[in-house]
Amino acid sequence: MVPTKFALLVVSLLPALLAAEDSPGSISPSHRTHEPGRPVVFACLKSETYVMGGALLSAKQAASQIFDGIGVKLLWSCQDQRDAIVIRLAAHAPRDFRKGTLAYALPFAREGVRITAFYDRLEPILEDHLSFAGSVLGHVLAHEIAHVLKRVDSHAETGLMRARWSERDFESMRFHALGFTPEDARFIRECVEREDPVQ
Ligand SMILES: [Zn+2]
Repeated sequence: MVPTKFALLVVSLLPALLAAEDSPGSISPSHRTHEPGRPVVFACLKSETYVMGGALLSAKQAASQIFDGIGVKLLWSCQDQRDAIVIRLAAHAPRDFRKGTLAYALPFAREGVRITAFYDRLEPILEDHLSFAGSVLGHVLAHEIAHVLKRVDSHAETGLMRARWSERDFESMRFHALGFTPEDARFIRECVEREDPVQ
């Protein structure tokens, strides 16, 4: 989970939004082609609320970019992907639910919704970092997806898998500079390779 005092959401200024697609048929045959040595993870984001214009697309792209940096291909699709990691973006957190928590993962679940994020808690953080809100949301998604892939709920001392992000961490997201530690990167990749039947 990413507990923090802040919340987030977005106006995406990232120019290339096309990498994150969610429409039917958006995953073309070429996307499905396995690149040797690059295990693939599918994620499906289901939003139950209005999200600031462009934020979701840029968040997906930012998350994919983060995983790309550790040699894992993160593709977004809700079509025919039974093993996809399903993420629910809820409008509101339940009353009194884990104060300060923006999102949480169920790292030991094998199917169904494995990540839930709360837009009412994210939105203020996104508004505070409006010019790179998509990137901030993408980091939240990447953090939770990493919990699912690693099947652990533990955190790192530094980087993307910190339990709490400081304002300096958020500032790093402006430049996509808050990544996984080398140890996390190696472990995540090993976990994905183990799960990916094509590898
Ligand atoms: Zn966490």
